[in-house]
Amino acid sequence: MIIANWKCNGSKSMIDEWFESYKSTIKNNGVYAGILGIAPPAIFINEVYDQIKKNNLDIDTISQDIAGYTRKFTGAISAKMLHENCAYSFCIIGHSERRISYNEDNKIIKDKILECLSCDINPILCIGESNEENKLGKTKEILENQLMILKNMTTSDSLTIAYEPIWAIGTGKTPNPKDVNDIHKFIKDIVQSISGNSATPIVIYGGSVNEDNAQSFLKEKFVDGALIGGASLDGSKFANIVNTFNGINLK
Ligand code: PEP
Repeated sequence: MIIANWKCNGSKSMIDEWFESYKSTIKNNGVYAGILGIAPPAIFINEVYDQIKKNNLDIDTISQDIAGYTRKFTGAISAKMLHENCAYSFCIIGHSERRISYNEDNKIIKDKILECLSCDINPILCIGESNEENKLGKTKEILENQLMILKNMTTSDSLTIAYEPIWAIGTGKTPNPKDVNDIHKFIKDIVQSISGNSATPIVIYGGSVNEDNAQSFLKEKFVDGALIGGASLDGSKFANIVNTFNGINLK
């Protein structure tokens, strides 16, 4: 699974250029990669969806967030709305930027996950430790605490966890791929032991992944894919990461 998180970036002209460069770089239409997705700002969902259909590409459109049951405030979008708009199949929940800047705690994030599941939207739950927590050796403790919202929950087959160390997001700093592999195994074990249906989640890595370092993460056994911010804003760079995931461009 390879997901582009465009965050608050994009314009109509950027979208046109993005698809032109994606098409000229992608091999085999990206089809081996399982799930490929783009999470654009909601206002551009139609442009992105139309480009995917027009170019016959195998890419899902993904929401960057939803309101959750209890916080349906001005400006918010609910999972029911995503469900009614057939463009959406997945939704990113609990990105560290939302946890930090919008004060989203485990309670709010659990509420959003439950609303996603009730509307057949597959959640991509983002978890990760801060730099300080990492330095104190608390990474697994922090991740376990963030995963506890899934305790006794019956999850979807496509439940996805994105391990995103906060200190690696947009900084150019990355953890050692072997450590990421170990953490992904830990995440899979925890989720399987606590979820109501012993689900084995898809676990993807996010944090400064680019064309040059993608292979070092994607070749690890328990790394099922990547969530990509900055490098996903260029269609050609994103396509190269997808090609790498598909075993093309291996160095
Ligand atoms: C992100 O924000 O989810 C992310 C992974 O960003 P970047 O790839 O730019 O570090």
